[in-house]
Amino acid sequence: MSDLAALADKTRAFIEREVQPVDDEFDGDVEAAGGDTLRVRLQEAAREAGVFAPHAAVAYGGLGLGMEARAAVFEAAGRSLFGPMALNINAPDEGNVHLLEHVATAEQRERFLAPLARGEVRSAFSMTEPAPGAGADPSALASTAVRDGDAWRINGHKWFITGADGASFHIVMARTSGEPGSPGGATMFLVPADAPGVELVRHVGTQDRSMIGGHCEIRYVDVVVPGDAVLGEVDEGFRYAQVRLGPARMTHVMRWLGAAVHAHETAVRHVAGRRAFGTRLAELGMVQQMIADNEIEIAATRALLLEACRELDGGGRAARTTSIAKTFAAEALHRIVDRSVQLCGGLGVSSDLPVARIAREVRPFRIYDGPSEVHRWSIARRAVARIDGAAR
Ligand SMILES: Cc1cc2nc3c(=O)[nH]c(=O)nc-3n(C[C@H](O)[C@H](O)[C@H](O)COP(=O)(O)OP(=O)(O)OC[C@H]3O[C@@H](n4cnc5c(N)ncnc54)[C@H](O)[C@@H]3O)c2cc1C
Repeated sequence: MSDLAALADKTRAFIEREVQPVDDEFDGDVEAAGGDTLRVRLQEAAREAGVFAPHAAVAYGGLGLGMEARAAVFEAAGRSLFGPMALNINAPDEGNVHLLEHVATAEQRERFLAPLARGEVRSAFSMTEPAPGAGADPSALASTAVRDGDAWRINGHKWFITGADGASFHIVMARTSGEPGSPGGATMFLVPADAPGVELVRHVGTQDRSMIGGHCEIRYVDVVVPGDAVLGEVDEGFRYAQVRLGPARMTHVMRWLGAAVHAHETAVRHVAGRRAFGTRLAELGMVQQMIADNEIEIAATRALLLEACRELDGGGRAARTTSIAKTFAAEALHRIVDRSVQLCGGLGVSSDLPVARIAREVRPFRIYDGPSEVHRWSIARRAVARIDGAAR
């Protein structure tokens, strides 16, 4: 067995032993299960088990895995809704670690990346705004940052900011030039969550319950940060967002694939054991069709995911392959989990089995990290541009 397969096996065993029982007891509700107290306890257990922070560089206490190498390990972690949190590979922290490794200065790494990678703090990525601000179309960005001597003054209104309650810092996207609608002019800022003017308005109530720190509405009111709070270059924020988003989309696919496979295996176990109409449910043609469709879509999701990961590992932007994999996966995983609910009958919608809670958690993935429609739009535009280019 390769080292990687052994690590994936070890991760799966750790999740089954230490994490799934808590997930089951609290029906995947992370706040009810203890919030940050639970996070600290599970992360300590993951460290002891040797499975903590597989994504982070070795210098920051991680295992330093590339994208393709992560896939099986993240999938194993994703089998429990609390698994990614236990390994410190939850969104948005995992994507923020990646972004900081690529863009932050040495001082910023020491101050923000190192404690984040070690699990000492949490973070938020703050981009989406209420209408008419940034949403599916990031260029509508309306939050602003203006120079104030050597410092910057940030004003803005954001929402759906995952993990913001309890985060130690936010990576805030604000406009430093242009107008809402201009394609450039955004800058990323590292903003301590306790800076004067950072106001947590409320938790936006959403159907999912496994993301620590909720999805928050935030106001930034005359928040003053020093010049060295700029992450990367001024006006390059949209470019860095792509550095973060390509890999972050794929790690979301890995984690949700693990959850969907767990739902599917639960369903197959149910129909293999339950008898009706003089036979096992698993012998009935329509049941077999659902099982087979799940197997096909799991395999197809893995294949598309690995293709995009290889391109990312090779240094490519992988804009097309990550868009295709993300769109297919978000929809296929939803179908897989929905069929799993159906196969389990009444138990499928109960809290006795994990499938109903997985269905609840996986649905928003078709909206965040780019709604399916926006990805389809850009996939189609690229295809047309290829034909136009060839015709010239
Ligand atoms: C659970 C969850 C967690 C999130 N976490 C974060 C976070 O941590 N940080 C953050 O900044 N944001 C976060 N978001 C916000 C998320 O990124 C946005 O919801 C997403 O970008 C869509 O923006 P919107 O909600 O404003 O939808 P809108 O922009 O209002 O779009 C609504 C719908 O319009 C359709 N649409 C839009 N554009 C097109 C198009 N070109 N063609 C066809 N149809 C189109 C799509 O169906 C889309 O779903 C989160 C959202 C959710 C649900």
